[in-house]
Amino acid sequence: MKKLFFIPFALLLGCSSLKNDSKLSPGDQLIKDIEILSSDAYMGRQTGTEGAEKARTYLISRLKAIGIKPYPGQANYESHFEFKPRNGTNAIKGINLIAAIPGKRAEAIVISAHYDHVGTRNNEIFNGADDNASGVSGLLQMAKYFAKKKPEHTLIFALFDAEEMGLQGAKAFVNNPPLNIENIKLNINMDMISRNDKNELYAAGSFLYPALKPYLISTNPNLKLMLGHDDPKLGRDDWTNQSDQGAFHAKGIPFIYFGVEDHKDYHKPTDEFQFIHQTFFKDAVNTIQQIVENIDKSKNLQTMFREKLISTKQ
Ligand SMILES: [Zn+2]
Repeated sequence: MKKLFFIPFALLLGCSSLKNDSKLSPGDQLIKDIEILSSDAYMGRQTGTEGAEKARTYLISRLKAIGIKPYPGQANYESHFEFKPRNGTNAIKGINLIAAIPGKRAEAIVISAHYDHVGTRNNEIFNGADDNASGVSGLLQMAKYFAKKKPEHTLIFALFDAEEMGLQGAKAFVNNPPLNIENIKLNINMDMISRNDKNELYAAGSFLYPALKPYLISTNPNLKLMLGHDDPKLGRDDWTNQSDQGAFHAKGIPFIYFGVEDHKDYHKPTDEFQFIHQTFFKDAVNTIQQIVENIDKSKNLQTMFREKLISTKQ
């Protein structure tokens, strides 16, 4: 009896929440998404667990509600891969979610965020609100924003799995992309974008790819866009290989990584929704969205990176 009542009720709730989604402002939807993804029900979203599966179910329902489709020619959003963990012998299975908005050109910008986190330890749930329910929610806002436009470049929205296990989802993607890898011209990666005591958001990557510099500006006086953390001389403070952009960089693909400096709740069970800075988070996502739009509209990315391509060949 209980089950019979429960299922239709759950379906009803699911439908009504999707209907409400379209009425929410982009900022309110952004906050709703991060709150849901970082709630205890998702159990820290560790790769290969029920929590990660639950997160995917939610994300797929959101991609469908937004109206963004799988990459052309793919049967669905899911892209399965396997990898050997650093300290183990048994292969682990991961699942990326890949959606796309075809542009006027086949050349593509990959906008990415990892949806996995570190799960539970000693009966404590690591909800990873900033790391990285924030980047995932930002990606959903941008997908909705661009879905209504015809972008210049094809925009690929990649929700990567197994970042916390060594950028595994991003590595699987660049090793087996759904398009000719030569056509991936830029990666925009978001990982930890929802809180900073000084209202500082970092954009890393322009040290290696200076052609990006003119685009990396904030028009919002409340958000300081900082350049840095991308000079190899910085050692641990060089973030190039510390999130999924590292897999793109390894293939010679230019990137911009958006993120904040580590805070006291980084990789702790206290990385909770209640501690994100909602205004900063909304400002950060809107700024990144504007930068992506400017880069997309600017010109042929092939031209932008010609200098880099020539210098690589020499
Ligand atoms: Zn992360």
